Formats: sequence, structure tokens, C-alpha cells
Amino acid sequence: MSVYDVIVIGGGASGLISAISAARHGAKVVIIEKTDRIGRKLLATGNGRCNMSNTNIADYKYNSDNSNFPLNILMHFNVDDTLGFFNELGILHRIESEGRVYPFSEQAAAVLDVLLMEVNRLNIDILYDSPVKNIDKKNNIFYVNTPTKTVSSQKVIIACGGMAGHQYGADGSGYIIAQKFGHRIITPNPALVQILSNQWYNKRLKGVRVKGQASLVCDGEKVKNAKGEIQFNEDGISGICIFDLSRDLHEYINCGKKCFINIDMLPDYTYEDVIDILEARLTHSPNKTIEEFLIGLINKKLISVILKLSGIKDMTLKASRLSQASLAEIAKLLKGWEIPVSGTRSWEHAQVTAGGVDTREIDEETLESRKISGLYFAGEIMDVDGICGGYNLQWAWSSGYIAGKNAANSSK
Ligand SMILES: Cc1cc2nc3c(=O)[nH]c(=O)nc-3n(C[C@H](O)[C@H](O)[C@H](O)COP(=O)(O)OP(=O)(O)OC[C@H]3O[C@@H](n4cnc5c(N)ncnc54)[C@H](O)[C@@H]3O)c2cc1C
Repeated sequence: MSVYDVIVIGGGASGLISAISAARHGAKVVIIEKTDRIGRKLLATGNGRCNMSNTNIADYKYNSDNSNFPLNILMHFNVDDTLGFFNELGILHRIESEGRVYPFSEQAAAVLDVLLMEVNRLNIDILYDSPVKNIDKKNNIFYVNTPTKTVSSQKVIIACGGMAGHQYGADGSGYIIAQKFGHRIITPNPALVQILSNQWYNKRLKGVRVKGQASLVCDGEKVKNAKGEIQFNEDGISGICIFDLSRDLHEYINCGKKCFINIDMLPDYTYEDVIDILEARLTHSPNKTIEEFLIGLINKKLISVILKLSGIKDMTLKASRLSQASLAEIAKLLKGWEIPVSGTRSWEHAQVTAGGVDTREIDEETLESRKISGLYFAGEIMDVDGICGGYNLQWAWSSGYIAGKNAANSSK
């Protein structure tokens, strides 16, 4: 049987940095990876560009049932530490809008390459095609069983991810391991994912993008807002601000609430401003048809949908024949179009998992289990998820580095 100081289960972003951190702190380390490749999900991040971090880290950018937990870890190995770590490995970075950080080469593959070179340099072993199903602990030693061999160590880091992006390896098996050690799992749900809506206009609007504000409305109450791009798809809506609302939707749908996404296509204008704009357009172009009079204000494909929803049947009539009530109805839709929604797409479309191992059972300084000494957690497996924009990878880097360092130090 091979004996190590630290075993890292899972070769994703958090597992790779945990292993590097543990080895740099003097430990003999092995990564045990279920699939035949390391860092597969990393290659898909940021559409292949890897939005690796964000300079605007704040507690409200993260969700967890234990709300102070993420920031504490994110401050212990912060964005500067992370960028310094990657700079040393050869990754020059660039900062784009809203603080999003990308490798200068704009290649996720470069990020994975430098991590793998460092894994090599530090003589970290990797076991591929080795799904861990079970871990035993006897006399302070962990025995990690894979289908082909058993390896042992005094410290184990579980970095198996959650359930988002099934196709890249994460399948929730880490939760079963954690549960066997007595850990509570907060129900996982897909997050940063498209929201489903089955409406007559889906097909017509496929591919249309709008920059606006979206709000999640459940049983008549606005529960969350997000600003940014909204994209219409054949089965619903997506775009960064819709992604940011998706995690909360499950909570309300699961308790039977009726939910809508309310879209404000003109968030910089009040309802009264929009009425004024529409009236001015009527005054300037009384001869345009009703359909023509909205061209230039909103995406052309949206016009017929908005007019139909506002009850206008004949769009070839002169716009000057629009009643005040119809104008008011159009303005209402432009400022607050309520789209009924039924849930989200499934795990393979989700970028991240909401829920996971309850962090109240994990030490907020070391990431060691409060239930089982020598057991650590890193990355998405924990009940922490960030909004879009590099926040989830930053969580993987920060938590991975801290878990690795503490596992190594305590194994000495
Ligand atoms: C398409 C896509 C794009 C994304 N883009 C971004 C982005 O640009 N910026 C950002 O911040 N975040 C992004 N994310 C989210 C981010 O990639 C993840 O939050 C992060 O990679 C999680 O890292 P992790 O190591 O915790 O888990 P994972 O990356 O899921 O890695 C877990 C690893 O563990 C292995 N494993 C699982 N179970 C076992 C087992 N039982 N035994 C052995 N091995 C096991 C898996 O095969 C996998 O290799 C994106 C996600 C997706 C799906």
C-alpha cells in the first residue's frame, strides 16, 4: 500500500491548488482523480478564457447558509495572493470590466498547464481513473479505496466538487463520502444556470439579447434583482444576470410559490420617462405604423411580442391611433415584463452548485472537519457559491490553498 502525508481527492481547480500548497508545505502528496484527466472543468471556464478571479471580492458576492464563512477564507488567501501565486507560475493577468480577471493569454489551458507543471515539479503523484467510493479511518490513519488500489495517509482533503457540470467529473460522490463521516449536506441545487420558461414567444425571441435589469418575483414579492445582459433561448432565458437569479429560484419553486422573472428593459428611465419617450415618438412620427414606432427603442424581434402582450391586435395601424391606455400598457411591459418561470436547466448546464457540505461543521480558519480530525474540504463541495465573474474559481483557489497548507502543517 502507498503511504502519503496528504491525499487529495479530486483533480479540479481546488484539488490542484490544495495539492500544490500541501507539497510546498513539505508534505508527500497524491491526487486521486475519478476521470482520465485532471482539470477538465477548468478548461471550460470563461468560455475557454478562464475568468480566474475578481478584484471586487465582498461577502455579498457569495452565498452560504453560514454567511461569514466564505469571506474569512477568501481574506486568508486573497486575490493578491492568488494573482501572485499564478504570476510566479507564469500567468500574467489582465483585469476586465467589473473586476473580472483573466490570464493575459486568454487561455484556460495556460492556467491548467502551469498548475500541472508545478504538480510535476513538486513530485505530486496522480492516480487517474480512480473514483473514490469509500474512505476508512482506523487509528488516525485514513485508508482511501479506489477500484484498483488503497492508499493511506494521516490527512485527506476532499475536493470532489459539487454536482454542476456532470460532464467534467463532478457527480456528488464527495457528498456521500462526507455524509459517511457524519457531515450534513445542504440540499444541492444547480446555480448559475439558464431559467426555464415555456411561452409562445420563446422560439420567436431565440438569440435576442437585452441589457437591462431582471428581478425574481415570487408570489408577488420581488426577492432579488440583477443588472446585465438577458438572453432569450428556445426554452427560457439566460445571460449573466439571469444566472445570478437562478440559485434562489429553486428555494421558492420548491415551496410551491409562483415565480416570474420581471424584466426592466429601460432601467435608467422611470415609468413616467418611458411614457414621455413614447409620446414624443408619436408626436415626431405620427405616420409610422404601431410596429414601426418602436424600432430603435428595443430589439426589433421584441416589438411584435411586446405589442401582442399589450393587447394590440393590428400592428399595421397608424401609431397615432394608439390610445393612452395602450401606451400605458406598452410602457408597463418595457419597465416590468413578467415572464412566468418553472425552474432551471439541469446539472450539466449549471456552472456551480448551490448547497453542499454544511460549513458550520468545518473550521473557518483551517478548513478541517469539526467532526473528523485530519479530514479537510476544498472548493465547490462546501456550501459556498459565488455570483458570475470569477468568484467561484477564487473560492476554489483560496479554500484549496488553505486546506492544503493546514493539512500539510498538521501532518508534521
Ligand atoms: C462551463 C463552466 C464554466 C465556468 N466558468 C467559470 C469562470 O469563468 N469563472 C469562475 O470563477 N467559475 C467558473 N465556473 C465554476 C468553477 O469552474 C468551479 O466552481 C470550480 O472549478 C470548482 O472547482 P472544484 O475543484 O471545487 O471542483 P471541480 O472542478 O468540479 O473538480 C472536482 C474534481 O473531482 C473529481 N471527482 C469527483 N468525485 C470524485 C471521486 N469520488 N473520486 C475521485 N475524484 C472525484 C472530478 O472528476 C473533478 O475532476 C465554471 C463552471 C462551468 C461548469
